[in-house]
Amino acid sequence: MTTAAPQEFTAAVVEKFGHEVTIKEVDLPKPGPFQALVKVITSGICHTDLHALEGDWPVKPNPPFIPGHEGIGEVVELGPGDHDVAVGDIVGNAWLWTACGTCEFCITGRETYCHQAEYGGYTQNGSFGQYMLVDTRYAARIPDGVDYLEAAPILCAGVTVYKALKVSDTRPGQFMVISGVGGLGHIAVQYAVAMGMRVIAVDVADDKLELARKHGAEFTVNARNEDPGEAIQNYTEGGSHGILVTAVHESAFGQAIDMARRNGTIVFNGLPPGEFPASVFNIVFKGLTIRGSLVGTRQDMAEALDFFARGLIKPTVASCSLDEVNDVFERMRAGKIDGRIAIQY
Ligand code: NAD
Ligand code: ZN
Ligand code: ZN
Repeated sequence: MTTAAPQEFTAAVVEKFGHEVTIKEVDLPKPGPFQALVKVITSGICHTDLHALEGDWPVKPNPPFIPGHEGIGEVVELGPGDHDVAVGDIVGNAWLWTACGTCEFCITGRETYCHQAEYGGYTQNGSFGQYMLVDTRYAARIPDGVDYLEAAPILCAGVTVYKALKVSDTRPGQFMVISGVGGLGHIAVQYAVAMGMRVIAVDVADDKLELARKHGAEFTVNARNEDPGEAIQNYTEGGSHGILVTAVHESAFGQAIDMARRNGTIVFNGLPPGEFPASVFNIVFKGLTIRGSLVGTRQDMAEALDFFARGLIKPTVASCSLDEVNDVFERMRAGKIDGRIAIQY
């Protein structure tokens, strides 16, 4: 049963970069064409939300805005236009909030790179509030019968690493390094295992490496205590075929080059705002491919959710209340979160 939506709702709002989010009442928005109003049940907290709060990236959101792009909730009202979701359906927002649908990227299955794309919790208000708007043409369809708290991290962390693994050109039986075992990385370990890869995890904290082993990594390296390039070259007898970097520190990006096998592929997911030194000689001499990868398409999302719904992926998630978002960001800065934390409304 759906109850009538109120005039206002409580949200965590970024009012100024580099300050805490403000928990306050905001006006309930009206769904426009192709949009739905969704009563949020849960929302994961991604490190991207922290970058948004800090104003870290060259492309910045405009405060005040509501972060959050791993939200799941129930459709309570539909705006004008044809929709293929109905009131009462369970949907999710995502980083890819909408796109133009007609450009060269949109019509060739690369819609995350659309120049007109809008980003959930960044250029559009997100799921750190009791209500959110979604574009029903882009909202994720949440499979029946799943645990919503565990499903939430799939909407960004899951789809992002799943897509990155798809474009890593790494086959079953080959080595895949997951560098950074946070919200994205601990799920990446699981997708890579499910895809038949031999998984190696790298982080700078032993508890993260323990989590990686729990999720199926066969070998782990603490980059704080030993040289990860050397350790991986030795273990794999010549380097890893694939490397996925989800770490939030620039140093991990250059290290990936030392971990790679000749002709290996390195995929960057992590988005620290800085730069890293890279040896041109090593890239050329090893014949490496280095590529960036941004979230995933609607099709990637459906596939990532399907892996999850079939029980192949089980994110490690703890819940918090909306009031605790600033504390969670503090723990995230310190690298003190196991897996993901999701707000439960
Ligand atoms: P998180 O804070 O949960 O995890 C980050 C992990 O990196 C932690 O485990 C930390 O210990 C580890 N780390 C830090 N320094 C390291 C180092 N030098 N070597 C190895 N590991 C190191 O963050 P998250 O939510 O997993 O997000 C990770 C990054 O991915 C962020 O920059 C985020 O903005 C980005 N991201 C990108 C996309 C995309 O589409 N490309 C999507 C979502 C998130
Ligand atoms: Zn995210
Ligand atoms: Zn487009």
